[in-house]
Amino acid sequence: MARYSKIKNILKSRNLRITDGRVDVLEFFFRKGKTLSIKEIQEELKDSDRVTLYRILNAFTENGVLHKIPDDSGQVTFGLCHDTCDAEDHNHDHMHFKCLDCGTIECLEQQVPEVSIPGYQVKEANLILKGLCKSCAA
Ligand SMILES: [Zn+2]
Ligand SMILES: [Zn+2]
Ligand SMILES: [Zn+2]
Repeated sequence: MARYSKIKNILKSRNLRITDGRVDVLEFFFRKGKTLSIKEIQEELKDSDRVTLYRILNAFTENGVLHKIPDDSGQVTFGLCHDTCDAEDHNHDHMHFKCLDCGTIECLEQQVPEVSIPGYQVKEANLILKGLCKSCAA
């Protein structure tokens, strides 16, 4: 039940009410230990209706529990946030990696290199690298 208390702490620290649906979504993330697409989440949590699920994911992305990973496939993928994220400070300047073989998207430790363009104010940076993930490259 260590996982359950971890999940409870995440929700509490973001001032989110503990509901079964929210716990189920987070439990699925910790069980898989990877980023998950909306499709994977829907397939896993078939019992919860779509609207409820979207509300949960919205509450999570607004409050620093999950972050959306932009991808050109048109499918939204979510990654778990670091413990330091909250509703006010929810910055993600790490890079992502998409495997061209298995399709997995990973959060990388590496930060997006700083870019400065004269006359522009950069507020956000997303960088997705593509290639073969560790297990596909092996
Ligand atoms: Zn975050
Ligand atoms: Zn792969
Ligand atoms: Zn990420």
